[in-house]
Amino acid sequence: MRRANSQGILRQDLLWHLKEGTRVRQAVEEDRCLLCQSQRVNRAGLCEGCAANLTDEEWEVAKEWIEERRR
Ligand SMILES: [Zn+2]
Repeated sequence: MRRANSQGILRQDLLWHLKEGTRVRQAVEEDRCLLCQSQRVNRAGLCEGCAANLTDEEWEVAKEWIEERRR
């Protein structure tokens, strides 16, 4: 299996990735947090700990994933 894209992303790039979506879908599929690689991620590809530390702007986009307005 190709694992080249399975590293966590940089915190500063999170908003961009949330909007772009490719890595979010991948994180959900692999059940690996976008930021810290933990398991048990939500629909935005984030674990509970990372999801609790989003900025307002990031949360607005993450919420669209969680509520399935993005997919
Ligand atoms: Zn995490």
